[in-house]
Amino acid sequence: MTNKSTFNIDFFLNIYLFLRIENAIPDHEIKDLHEIREILHNADVESIIWDIDQTLVAYGKTTVPEDIQNLISNLKPNFRMCFLSNFPHTEDRIERIRTIEKQLEIDAIFSKRRKPSPVAFHLALDYLRSDPEKTMMVGDRILTDIIGANRLGLKTVLVAPLDKKTDPFLMVTLPRFFERPYLKLGRMIHRNKP
Ligand SMILES: [Mg+2]
Repeated sequence: MTNKSTFNIDFFLNIYLFLRIENAIPDHEIKDLHEIREILHNADVESIIWDIDQTLVAYGKTTVPEDIQNLISNLKPNFRMCFLSNFPHTEDRIERIRTIEKQLEIDAIFSKRRKPSPVAFHLALDYLRSDPEKTMMVGDRILTDIIGANRLGLKTVLVAPLDKKTDPFLMVTLPRFFERPYLKLGRMIHRNKP
């Protein structure tokens, strides 16, 4: 029953979020995660919320590439950081996230309300003790990471997925197919945004 009502709330909330197409436009778009260093250098932020899948590690994989591990450890002295993940419902998935936490020495915040729900982002902001405008969300998905974070006034970075071949078809490949035209439309309508 609880799940059902949560689904309904999120369903209508998501429709509302999708209609606010200006929220689909990220502040920055990068092809390689390492470009984040320059963006952070020029951005007035204290904290970073990382998406996990396809941002830091390929879908379903457990080992974070070494260059990304180095990137994160270089950023760590200057920023408070966490991962934001939809609640992993199986032991395997929980174990996978725990392994990634250990490699990067960053805590994962699990949200039962899936991104782009503001509830998920508020959990991460509370953990980081960070104001939205001092926080950067970094993720590979427009309809979850970017829309949700823009809605709350976070700074947003859209990064190209690490390895598209590992995307699950229904949950990710299919929505990605609609994301680019949706972003393009958003940029056409809101030309004043970068
Ligand atoms: Mg992702």
